[in-house]
Amino acid sequence: MTVARVGVLALQGDVREHARVLTDAGADVALVRRPAELAQVDGLVLPGGESSVIDKLARAFDLFEPIRAAIADGLPVLGTCAGLILLADRIDGAIAGQRTFGGLDVRVQRNAFGSQTQSFETDLAVPVLGDPPVHAVFIRAPVVTETGLDATPLATLPDGRVVAVEQDNLLGLAFHPESTGETRFHARFLD
Ligand code: GLN
Repeated sequence: MTVARVGVLALQGDVREHARVLTDAGADVALVRRPAELAQVDGLVLPGGESSVIDKLARAFDLFEPIRAAIADGLPVLGTCAGLILLADRIDGAIAGQRTFGGLDVRVQRNAFGSQTQSFETDLAVPVLGDPPVHAVFIRAPVVTETGLDATPLATLPDGRVVAVEQDNLLGLAFHPESTGETRFHARFLD
């Protein structure tokens, strides 16, 4: 069996947490900070952090266009929180000039739950993962406000807002499975 070589975009955010979950799941993990490192991975994780900062750093490190092109070419990508924002084709609440890699046919609202004090945790039913529910931590999290025809919602809050979506090789989560010991999304991504 060949081991998947999975990159974690390591410009800013909770890089180490993702690397740990992926390593525990049996992946060969590489931190990605340059185009040559991107070229060597079979999949990429976009971590939580600050999407506008990751966007700026990706451009400064000459990674923006290569990542965009790799996603368009079908590279499997898991994005959590800021990573979901970076995967979204359309965003609301962006700072001036903020761009996304895109690929996910969704509209995302940044900071949909207000400031840091309005971060929260909840148990989330995710039918494709089955039982038990996912203990989801939301930290200055986005929500998906429109799901295009190409994307499929995987989980919604009790008020109906979509917080997990999948589209072909792309998986976007508004919360942080990497920080709660939840490994099933990473396993689904590695599959
Ligand atoms: N609010 C952040 C952003 O807009 C995302 C927060 C997070 O990743 N925990 O990028």
